[in-house]
Amino acid sequence: MRCPFCAAQDTRVIDSRLANEGDHVRRRRECIACKERFTTFETAELILPRVVKRNGIREPFDETKLRSGMLRALEKRPVSSDAIEAAIIRIKKNLLSSGDREVAAQELGEKVMQELKLLDHVAFVRFASVYRSFQDVSEFTDMIQDLQTK
Ligand SMILES: [Zn+2]
Repeated sequence: MRCPFCAAQDTRVIDSRLANEGDHVRRRRECIACKERFTTFETAELILPRVVKRNGIREPFDETKLRSGMLRALEKRPVSSDAIEAAIIRIKKNLLSSGDREVAAQELGEKVMQELKLLDHVAFVRFASVYRSFQDVSEFTDMIQDLQTK
């Protein structure tokens, strides 16, 4: 970490402790060049990536929108709320662990489709037919056939 006083590259940690009930790590550092001391805080970055739409517009990740899209596909299907919430949590964890600051809407759509495929095939097809822009009818038929063989 660069020294904020003299901009030297080498600083050393002289003390490290947990703060705020373990949410942060507080570190005392000393610059090797100028001997000034300063403190840094380290926290886990839990920010969901922004969603990049096809037209290039960036939007904040919207869990409500994600949920409503999935619920629409799952309408009148025999899938429990718990299973849906678990799927949403998996999608969010997956996004968080990627560490990316942005995710393409299409990629997010694919993640949702993967989860729906596990939950309910009808919901998967409903969602996919809206989300994925099929090149032609045969591509859609292929996907249905692919499902039936599983
Ligand atoms: Zn320094």
